[in-house]
Amino acid sequence: MPVTYTKVEKITDAAAVKLAYKPTHPGLFEVAYAEGDYNSKLVAARPYAKGEILCKVEGITAGPKKYTSVQVGKDDHIELNSDLVFMNHSCNPTVSLDTDTMTVVAVVDLKEGDNLTFFYPSSEWEMDQPFPCWCGAEQCVKNVQGAKFLSKETMSRYFLTKHIQTLLEEREAAASAAQV
Ligand SMILES: [Zn+2]
Repeated sequence: MPVTYTKVEKITDAAAVKLAYKPTHPGLFEVAYAEGDYNSKLVAARPYAKGEILCKVEGITAGPKKYTSVQVGKDDHIELNSDLVFMNHSCNPTVSLDTDTMTVVAVVDLKEGDNLTFFYPSSEWEMDQPFPCWCGAEQCVKNVQGAKFLSKETMSRYFLTKHIQTLLEEREAAASAAQV
């Protein structure tokens, strides 16, 4: 399928952007555009119960690791090519992006308008563009760089994709081998 999705992130006229906006998943979720750089977010367009699947992740394409890509295997990255690319990071996420089943799943009960966020290190081992986190969660990891930089204990609080579980196990095995 042709890839025509463009992420608009530097916004000077939110009203104009909203007017031209066509949601990729109407009725399920939509982008809440905000002026400034990287201030937009993805919000629920209807309520979801904890554990409910918001959508299947379709229309993806393989590509290099970038700030917009999602890691789906030890060396594999994809582009989402939909409004899902606006899902921001939170250390207290509202959804999980399950790259094994290619679904987005609610991890809490969601109301219409709730911010859809996921924990980026649940899929990313070493991120292309690390950033300081200001999510305000009690368990905030402060520096979002990828799972490689977080302890097993911290990672155990979150939904984890299979490739991240494998990479964490390999890291632990290498660390204990180095101690002998
Ligand atoms: Zn945080």
